[in-house]
Amino acid sequence: GLILAVETSCDETSAAVVENGTIIRSNVVSSQIETHKRFGGVVPEIASRKHVESITLILDEAVRAANVRLSDLSAIAVTQGPGLVGSLLVGVVAAKALACSLQIPLIGVHHIAGHIYANRLVHELDYPLMALVVSGGHTELVHVPAPGVFRVIGQTRDDAAGEAYDKVARAMGLPYPGGPHVDRLAHEADEGVPMPRVWLEPDSYDFSFSGLKSAVLAILNQAKMRGDVIHPVRISKGFQDSVVEVLVEKAIRASKEFGAKQLLLAGGVAANKGLREALADRCGREGLPLLAPPLSLCTDNAAMIAAAAFLKWDRGETSPLDLKAEPLLSLGGWSVKDPFFES
Ligand code: ATP
Ligand code: MG
Ligand code: FE
Repeated sequence: GLILAVETSCDETSAAVVENGTIIRSNVVSSQIETHKRFGGVVPEIASRKHVESITLILDEAVRAANVRLSDLSAIAVTQGPGLVGSLLVGVVAAKALACSLQIPLIGVHHIAGHIYANRLVHELDYPLMALVVSGGHTELVHVPAPGVFRVIGQTRDDAAGEAYDKVARAMGLPYPGGPHVDRLAHEADEGVPMPRVWLEPDSYDFSFSGLKSAVLAILNQAKMRGDVIHPVRISKGFQDSVVEVLVEKAIRASKEFGAKQLLLAGGVAANKGLREALADRCGREGLPLLAPPLSLCTDNAAMIAAAAFLKWDRGETSPLDLKAEPLLSLGGWSVKDPFFES
């Protein structure tokens, strides 16, 4: 199966051609970061207009770079949700037009299933597995008992990890997106400013980062009022240590409880060096194999969407041509229809 995938859920316009859900023939990503930087975050209206401007070019480029003919394609995949509705629509309309004119199946894909299956592009997966999804909009622990079956066992009750990183960075005057900057600064400090850890109920796999974010903002405000010097390096380290410790502990506990054979890291924050190091260390001691995508496949890209689409294409599950963009699409509901795993 040769799948052409389109991803436009946020501020990356991307198209990719992937063979059998594993071999990347092309993966073209056009980021709008430079456009949104001056606003300190993604402006939805501008994002969708930018997608419209670049989608045709990116699709052409993906097909050309893959060195395939359109007639070789088996299916068109597209991120159906979750994401910004105006952004999603651009990809969905382009994908429908292609599927329609080429008369091949259309497959709507859940964006987070894509982030998880980015790992399939570089690793062999062994089920059951546990996925820790940490991105700009999501922080989730996902139990994956079989290929394409997703059960969210924990999620953030307020800010996503990436969102907290970006807000804390912004408060310290760092450019958007701030995650990589906070990560870099944290590595320059020997000791961090002490910060709270939010564990919630003892048996909960949920997360909460807004309290931690508020703690950072309070430290910054107090320093400003007192006229004290601010130490972004020590604040970054304190913040990162708190986020990482909670993520690692809950991911390890969940992996054990669900008998996971592997722990998968996914999403933009999976690029975080502190998190990767701490997880590698803990997993090493627990004897739990840890898989993570290379940095280029952690952030939004269409190859991961093709990898997830292959799960459905392989079973003959395709989407109707009146597929709708779903800004709030649920991951569990997108699972493959395998009667054996239906609950
Ligand atoms: P979602 O996937 O939930 O819809 P998104 O697609 O906007 O959200 P991604 O593209 O997966 O999110 O990830 C972007 C996020 O990753 C940003 O918040 C960014 O700050 C964060 N990020 C990227 N690199 C790092 C890093 N090294 N450390 C921490 N955060 C990082
Ligand atoms: Mg993005
Ligand atoms: Fe994403």
